[in-house]
Amino acid sequence: IINVEHLVKSFGNHEVLKDLHFSISKGEVVCVIGSSGSGKSTLLRCINGLESLTSGTIHFQGESVGRGEKELNKFRANVGMVFQSFNLFNNMTVLQNCMVGTRKVLKLNPKESKERAIKHLKQVGMAPYINAKPAQLSGGQKQRVAIARALTMQPQVLLFDEPTSALDPEMVGEVLQVMKKLASEGLTMVIVTHEMSFAKDVSTRTIFMDEGYIVEDDIPENLFENPKNPRMREFLSRYI
Ligand code: ATP
Ligand code: MG
Repeated sequence: IINVEHLVKSFGNHEVLKDLHFSISKGEVVCVIGSSGSGKSTLLRCINGLESLTSGTIHFQGESVGRGEKELNKFRANVGMVFQSFNLFNNMTVLQNCMVGTRKVLKLNPKESKERAIKHLKQVGMAPYINAKPAQLSGGQKQRVAIARALTMQPQVLLFDEPTSALDPEMVGEVLQVMKKLASEGLTMVIVTHEMSFAKDVSTRTIFMDEGYIVEDDIPENLFENPKNPRMREFLSRYI
């Protein structure tokens, strides 16, 4: 679905992503791992058009994604993103949070928008909380609402940037469980994570980034059991 070629991203004269090649096919679950500052978030932000590219190209379903505002908006609607910090609107209820996108961007009528919101809240087990405000929810529940909100846009690809890093340990499991379920339902996902056992179990491919390079890109069996790169071995040893 997405094909990235020769991607370079610099902030000033700091080159953060260095000539990356990356592609994702329908139904793949790609986990991205790597130490802090290696460029994982920047890669996701480039993929969904939140950051402009310094150079390189992105193709979406075979078509080159231009830089025009209109084109970018259409592209962003197809590529959802879930953030570490949930980014819910605190003054709105759970239901309202899950309706804004489809009302404002997709221009669904209120009935359709509400039905779709409820469908996806059910999918993440949050339907009983439709009238709650985010402040009344636990971190894990907030993240599940944020995932439901992203799903209401029916994206072709959903990107996750450390979706469980801001959570108390006892809430990590429920969010990973939801993501596992989405994976089994065939959703195409790219997940930046520090949850190595999740990456091992759920990903169809894992990418290891180091200092702006994709150093390894392989099925998790190879990558975790038999890492070729010394930086990757060193990185993994910190998790054992
Ligand atoms: P972490 O695991 O800590 O989230 P990361 O792999 O996601 O790290 P990035 O956030 O992509 O890393 O950052 C990569 C590098 O780019 C870092 O050196 C960071 O300081 C730099 N960087 C990221 N965003 C900007 C920005 N908007 N302006 C300047 N530098 C930036
Ligand atoms: Mg990051």
